[in-house]
Amino acid sequence: MITEIRYALYAWMGLGVLVFFLLNFITAPYGRHSRKGWGPMVSERLAWVLMEFPSLAILLYFLVKHWSSPIPALILAGAWVLHYIYRTFIFPLLLRPGPKGTPVSIIFMSQVFNTINALFNGFFLFMYPPTGFSLRFASGMFILIAGFAIHVWADHRLRVLRKPGETEYKIPVGGLFNYVSSPNYLGEIVEWTGFAIAAWNLAALAFLLWTIANLVPRALAHHRWYKKQFSDYPSDRKALIPFIL
Ligand code: NDP
Repeated sequence: MITEIRYALYAWMGLGVLVFFLLNFITAPYGRHSRKGWGPMVSERLAWVLMEFPSLAILLYFLVKHWSSPIPALILAGAWVLHYIYRTFIFPLLLRPGPKGTPVSIIFMSQVFNTINALFNGFFLFMYPPTGFSLRFASGMFILIAGFAIHVWADHRLRVLRKPGETEYKIPVGGLFNYVSSPNYLGEIVEWTGFAIAAWNLAALAFLLWTIANLVPRALAHHRWYKKQFSDYPSDRKALIPFIL
């Protein structure tokens, strides 16, 4: 059984690599890249709740079922649950949606991804729990918290670019936005890097790989979009990694 799950996870990681290449040619059609031909549109707020809820519900289930597991595993599951409470409920509640909406096909694909990803991570986190407070666990947690802080800060900076009721795009400035176009994606990648280091299992590594596969091509697409949209867009700003990419 464990061997089969391990092989399924290798296949899942292979699919993540394929998706990375595809997303460099086909930008996921939501937000500023939203376009017709991907099914009926749903409001952005509802879309986020529907897309992210499986990740929250599945890890909560594992957490309750394995309540007597080693504390480091409970801390990591707790961090996951907090992240997805934010993404499923707080982020959509606060956001100032753009004009377009999210197509149902994107919602469906996200739900499939989130369900498989949460099942793998719940299973591996409690089947192979980190048992002690090692230096690796502590460093992973530090990186995870730093990434989450960057991520939430950047989401906030993007949100307040629009006054309530506005739907247009503006050039974000300040902090990490002076260096990269998408610090919200950078923060998310840093966060799941920390999770993978602290959890130290194959499912957490697969999640990091999929996060990179989703967010690196999207950060590059956002950066191209900004440069095309705004003639005064800062020329020394990178897409995702300060001074590098
Ligand atoms: P975006 O940066 O495209 O948008 C975030 C919000 O800010 C949207 O409401 C958007 O409006 C608004 N916004 C963005 N830029 C501007 C601007 N220049 N002017 C005005 N408003 C702006 O992020 P995503 O929607 O792609 O993702 C949201 C979060 O979800 C991110 O923090 C990301 O890290 C996370 N995510 C994680 C994934 C993963 O694989 N782990 C995959 C995808 C997302 P509008 O919608 O109108 O564009």
